Amino acid sequence: MLIEDDPLQSQLLRFHLEGVTDDIHVTRSGLNGVEMIENLQPTCVLLDMGLPDIDGFEVLRLIRERRLTNLVNVIVLSALKDPNRIAAAIDGGAFDYITKPFTPVELQARVRNALRRNCQECKLDLAYRLGMT
Ligand code: CA
Repeated sequence: MLIEDDPLQSQLLRFHLEGVTDDIHVTRSGLNGVEMIENLQPTCVLLDMGLPDIDGFEVLRLIRERRLTNLVNVIVLSALKDPNRIAAAIDGGAFDYITKPFTPVELQARVRNALRRNCQECKLDLAYRLGMT
């Protein structure tokens, strides 16, 4: 899922992710994004920090409040490389942080990494291998 208000950026992200996944939902609003996360429970969310309604930190806070942090892997997209900001995002429940401008290969690798996590199949597979089923 993409939470990105810039249509051009959003189009670019979709384009770069074509080979990674074809199941992409997009919203321009942070509040709508939180609703969609709750309803769709996507494995991976690309979250732009600068949104028109609420900012990315507020989105992360609402995801925590609704206890969805462990269900979705949020990758923050930000132009700011400030280490304190990166730390705050990770501490706030983000799974990963990508600074803009990013290269397609880096984006794709990070999204693939996020998609590998929390996938029900993977969990079952792991449980099976650990003899938990
Ligand atoms: Ca933005």
